[in-house]
Amino acid sequence: MNNAIDFTKTPVTEVYGSNCFSNAVMRERLPKNIFKEILAVQAGEKELTLEVAEFAAAAMRDWALSKGATHYTHWFHPLTGLTAEKHDSFISPTADGRVIMEFSGKELIKGEPDASSFPSGGLRATFEARGYTAWDVTSPAFLKQDLTGTTLCIPTAFISYYGHALDKKVPLLKSLDALSTEAIRVLKALGNETSKRVITTVGPEQEYFLVDKQFYDQRPDLILTGRTVFGSMPAKGQEMEDHYFGALKERVSIFMRELNTELWKVGVSAKTQHNEVAPNQFEIAPIFTTATVAVDANQMVMETIRNTARRHGMEALLHEKPFDGVNGSGKHNNWSMATDDGVNLLEPGENPESNARFLLFTAAVVEAVDRYALLLRASAASAGNDHRLGANEAPPAIISIFFGGPLTEIFDNIADRKTGTKTGGAHRIKLGVTSLPTLPVDVSDRNRTSPFAFTGNKFEFRMVGSSQSIATPNTYLNTAVAQVLSEFADTLEKAKDKNTAIQDIIRESYSKHRRVVFNGNGYSEEWVLEAERRGLPNVRNTVDVLPVMTQKDTVALFESHKVLTKDELESRYHIYLEKYSKQINIEAGVMIDMARRSIFPAVSSYAGDLAKDAAALASIGAVSAPQEKRAKRIAELSAELYDETAKLEKVLEEAQVVEDAFAQAKVYQEKVIPVMDGVRSRADALEKIVSKCAWPYPTYEELLFKL
Ligand code: ADP
Ligand code: MG
Repeated sequence: MNNAIDFTKTPVTEVYGSNCFSNAVMRERLPKNIFKEILAVQAGEKELTLEVAEFAAAAMRDWALSKGATHYTHWFHPLTGLTAEKHDSFISPTADGRVIMEFSGKELIKGEPDASSFPSGGLRATFEARGYTAWDVTSPAFLKQDLTGTTLCIPTAFISYYGHALDKKVPLLKSLDALSTEAIRVLKALGNETSKRVITTVGPEQEYFLVDKQFYDQRPDLILTGRTVFGSMPAKGQEMEDHYFGALKERVSIFMRELNTELWKVGVSAKTQHNEVAPNQFEIAPIFTTATVAVDANQMVMETIRNTARRHGMEALLHEKPFDGVNGSGKHNNWSMATDDGVNLLEPGENPESNARFLLFTAAVVEAVDRYALLLRASAASAGNDHRLGANEAPPAIISIFFGGPLTEIFDNIADRKTGTKTGGAHRIKLGVTSLPTLPVDVSDRNRTSPFAFTGNKFEFRMVGSSQSIATPNTYLNTAVAQVLSEFADTLEKAKDKNTAIQDIIRESYSKHRRVVFNGNGYSEEWVLEAERRGLPNVRNTVDVLPVMTQKDTVALFESHKVLTKDELESRYHIYLEKYSKQINIEAGVMIDMARRSIFPAVSSYAGDLAKDAAALASIGAVSAPQEKRAKRIAELSAELYDETAKLEKVLEEAQVVEDAFAQAKVYQEKVIPVMDGVRSRADALEKIVSKCAWPYPTYEELLFKL
């Protein structure tokens, strides 16, 4: 496969979507009435019938075969946060010893991956290992190509034999329905007769690191855990900030071109790319699209980053904190709501009606974020992200909303029943209700320290971890906003005077929840204290925040919108706890192995060499004190490293035998992690004083600065 495309011969417009079974392809390949049916299914207006599925399957098969596909797979999002696939070939033997290429509607709608080893958190007994996958019509099928062939990938939902959601897609789809239902109720009450459905739009910015493969291959920690468990900072860190938006190195630029091309082929709209703050850290952002497509696209982005990097002799690190002492990686989840007829509900408009609508929907988001802050925090919780959130880094673990001055003032004035506004400026737009202040157009000033920022016509949720699926954060956000909108709708539907009702709703809601709005520096010490005074939760780690998933309010929220049942929430809670424990367990295990089998032997023989050198120098009457001193210091630190490693092994054994999932995760968090820090500090101190040649692993200098 030659990846270099000559865009003068094949324009981007031709490359784009060439491996995507988009609506455009379906329109070409399906009978008109069948295509219309599929559009109706996508819009949630109809159920998919077997007849329609037969047409779709045949068209999909012919299209895929024409592109050289031999296999198809139902591509789904298990709770591991990764994507999973099981491949079947299209072949079907004939009586005379040949094959034909077949793919039926049944196979399209429903596959049976028998995925008994995916985590199900007790929802699926081992004797009933079957899980079913069902075609997600809202996200287009696409082709995956590599040197050996082509596979048709069908975005899929994954459910148990008893109908429980076993993946991240099913609840996402349900949350989208819930949000649409409630938002439409509000819009109807506001007099909108035309919109039929509200969709959420999502545009995730993806951060990642690249390291040279030759160094990566020598680091068991990177290979097995995705992050360095040892490593001391070189003389230069990110303090010069010369990397951010700097010119791309040629090697990286070539990599990015191929990455873009690969993504364009499958219909992922890679748009923006640049250097990030930390050395060898980068970002890619597509153009926003509907939530399901964006969620699938982001999984493809992560996978394509990895595969493309490998073809260029590099390894991509998607971990939230691959390196201590430099910025970690996140995913900025840009989110908004839009009607099917194209109105962004978070866009301040140009007439009184649209501004009332804007304020109402924005108020709903503020209330949802305040009421369900812990849930949103939990949606971004993972062992990896704990190194970012609540550690001295962006963003803090406290959920707050950045509004910017003008918008805050408008809401404050509504809440405080003030009519005037201090904000001057020519760009003002009127609200329908005369007693409300006018609205300045440009409300999009920037604050990079906020975990949830209003950026003009959307919110940007910045807590999300770089390696995680964005399905869960969006599912929780959609459901929380759906709940508040349903309460707004209850009031509005009953109201005699709509204008007064709108004002009352905004005033009451914002008065209660304005505490979550904070425009200052989210990284400051003062904010931590101020947030505490305001009663905002500040939960710094995964284990402490996950229990919110099974609390009464949470269960009520998800059950009332039919997004997740109590059982499903409990199973997810267990799976996430186990995932946390497993992650720390692997990291600790790798640490012990590296410390014991490589670092300790290397440093003690280096200390021995120094001691021999000192003795030899002394024997000729030369100065030998520096060698002796250094040997002693290394011996001292090695002894500590030895002890700490033994200690780590012991606490690890203690953690491994704890039965209860929560209690076990707690032991990893409270006992294992602090000892890991102890091991690391000794090894990192040793790295600084041991000869470069004696150190057994590539250093941060090589990992972060050489490409
Ligand atoms: P920045 O880095 O300044 O936040 P970027 O341009 O890198 O901005 O990313 C902004 C992201 O937000 C893009 O993916 C963009 O498509 C997305 N976006 C823009 N408008 C919306 C919207 N209405 N809903 C969801 N995402 C949006
Ligand atoms: Mg951003």
